[in-house]
Amino acid sequence: AALVGRRARSWWRWGRAVEVVREFEEGCATPVGRLRQVVDAMVVEMHAGLASDGGSKLKMLHTFVDTLPNGNEDGVYYAIDLDANSCRVLRVELGGRGSKIINHRVEKHKIPQELEYSASEEVFDFIASTLKRFVEREENVINLVPDEKKELGFTVSFPVRQLSVSSGVLIKWSKGFTIEDVVGKDVSQCLEDAMSKNGLNMRVAALVNDSVGTLALGHYYDQDTVAAVIIGTGTNACYIERCDAIIKCQGLLTNSGGMVVNMEWGNFWSSHLPRTSYDIALDDESPNRNDQGFEKMISEMYLGEIVRRVLLRIADESDIFGDSTHHLSVPFILRTSLMAAIHEDDSPDLREVGKILEETLQMLNTSLKVRMLVASVCDIVTKRAARLVAAGIIGILKKIGRDGIGSIASGRSKGTSRRTVVTIERGLYTDYSMFREYMNEAISEILGEQVSQNVVLRVSEDGSGIGTALLAAVYSSKR
Ligand code: BGC
Ligand code: MG
Repeated sequence: AALVGRRARSWWRWGRAVEVVREFEEGCATPVGRLRQVVDAMVVEMHAGLASDGGSKLKMLHTFVDTLPNGNEDGVYYAIDLDANSCRVLRVELGGRGSKIINHRVEKHKIPQELEYSASEEVFDFIASTLKRFVEREENVINLVPDEKKELGFTVSFPVRQLSVSSGVLIKWSKGFTIEDVVGKDVSQCLEDAMSKNGLNMRVAALVNDSVGTLALGHYYDQDTVAAVIIGTGTNACYIERCDAIIKCQGLLTNSGGMVVNMEWGNFWSSHLPRTSYDIALDDESPNRNDQGFEKMISEMYLGEIVRRVLLRIADESDIFGDSTHHLSVPFILRTSLMAAIHEDDSPDLREVGKILEETLQMLNTSLKVRMLVASVCDIVTKRAARLVAAGIIGILKKIGRDGIGSIASGRSKGTSRRTVVTIERGLYTDYSMFREYMNEAISEILGEQVSQNVVLRVSEDGSGIGTALLAAVYSSKR
């Protein structure tokens, strides 16, 4: 009888674990009908954000970028790429038509943690002195005319309200990064002050979001590129909009008739998004509550964390993980790169999964069944994220009339065969193959096989660095 009791108990525990996963899976479901609702919600919010400031959770920031590089740019340009915790400096040498990017050099520096509570002067002093050392080393090598003013592209991978193509005010931080004193300041002015203090003869020619740099690089290689997407630590997208559609900037006129809009789609929200209790708890405990809701379901910073929360629940409600589960209560312990490795383990005994559970979470001797369950949680989280990104992209295409659907309905077959390129920065899309597969699959599910063939997703390599240097060339005072 004791044996039967034990068996029944262990069955019950498994039953509960499986139930937790099943409920979670239901909560995350993204059938194509729901994805279409997300597409439409994206379009509606885009219109609202373009109509007025504060009209939507989508900020739809206009960038003053009305010209994208076309391959004729030449000369030497520098760039700074400021992202959560890191500051990269670049030097890019452009050879004009045909020769393209002759040379580029990059250095990555960590932003010292103690700067978090410093005054903005100290922060920009750190950036300017880092740049100065880099420029000095580089110039020694190439021996440029010493005192020529150099043109710089400045990438700030956070929402900025642009004042011009080369200046703008930081609206807020995201991705868990903050340096309080910088919010509300003109970041280009801050940088230029710090550069002149450091004796650097440089000027900010273009201040851009990383998505905009990515669009610039995409366009440099392929002029059918209409939008750019970032799925890294954070997520965002930008695209080329017609000026007359940016209603909140009445009378906006550009030579091209178009302007790049930085959507800040990480903050997109819609009741159609499949949100679970785990998402709500993650948001509640985050430093930016009620903010970046889409990002918290999609980006690299959060996916592993959602998985951890589900596993912790399973540990609380069953004993399938054994006794040593206290590591599971450490926030952000399960990084998304490990989650990808768990998900992509195709060995028969899921050896890699076992190793990660052991090394990261101290869960020893896990059974195959347990490993499979963990992998299935990763699958659910990634599938939802990738399919939502697909819906977001199609929302953009629909907004600009490139989703092919209208053209089919109206029988204009020419419109449907128009090649449309969306450039995607390296990140989850390249580093997580299941993410990529789910995303591509959802795109063809939503658009249909035939139309989706005209949508080309092209990976870009360092748009936030090289692309921004290209924009410095486009907006250089020498041209
Ligand atoms: C920021 C965006 C940025 C994106 C990708 C988000 O958290 O708000 O400005 O483009 O991350 O880096
Ligand atoms: Mg970046």
